[in-house]
Amino acid sequence: MLEIERVSVRYGRHQALFDVSARLERGRIAVLLGANGAGKSTFLKAIGGLVSTRPGASIRVGGIEIAGLPAHGRVEAGVALVPENRGIFRSLSVAENLHLGGYAQRARADGGARLGQVLNLFPRLGERLGQTVRTMSGGEQQMVAMGRALMSHPDFLLLDEPSLGLSPILSQEMFRTLRRIADETDVGVLLVEQNAKLSLGIADDCYLLENGHIAGQGPAEEMKRSPDVLRAYLGEEVVPG
Ligand code: ATP
Repeated sequence: MLEIERVSVRYGRHQALFDVSARLERGRIAVLLGANGAGKSTFLKAIGGLVSTRPGASIRVGGIEIAGLPAHGRVEAGVALVPENRGIFRSLSVAENLHLGGYAQRARADGGARLGQVLNLFPRLGERLGQTVRTMSGGEQQMVAMGRALMSHPDFLLLDEPSLGLSPILSQEMFRTLRRIADETDVGVLLVEQNAKLSLGIADDCYLLENGHIAGQGPAEEMKRSPDVLRAYLGEEVVPG
């Protein structure tokens, strides 16, 4: 379990998050939906240790407090972040990026098996191990970023808009792979998305973030039918009654 409680973040005088709490379970996918500027990326960065949280926050993995740890300590605790800019080394090859992902102490014992797992999820990467990442398509670079994060042997994977810039077909494929990651590797996924329709289609749980506050939460199946979600995220007219 990844238990996140009372996360508040300030950028100078601007407060981006106000006491945000969420819970993730291994093998499940939670999607965080919200408008531009709602604070979604900030929330992922706060969990990953890339921005500081205000005093009072608690982030626990399997009951162990990680809120005070630097970013690499959180990777060692089992939390891997794929940021919106993807966090990969574009001048290096696919193989080198995957190798760097497996640098974490927790990942060293079983690196070969993990590489096999990543190449099974993303067969395209196996065909392109020697290719420089810069020369790859957006979808392929997203695969490298996800593969690199998985190489650290995470219990929880945090993804910031993985469908950004992908064609509808590639987005669908990417969401199906996310479902496989949760089902086959027992990793818990927290997904920040603009694509509400596709992400709610594969998610188990859903959180809504508005102006830095949690404005709703529940099973994805129920949230898909909530008038707030239909109106704000699925672009549907809601007929009263
Ligand atoms: P988007 O979908 O547009 O990426 P988001 O929901 O991820 O939006 P954040 O990027 O988390 O939102 O930003 C939340 C708020 O914090 C915004 O008002 C943003 O302008 C502000 N913000 C984000 N990063 C910084 C920063 N480094 N310095 C100052 N303000 C920031």
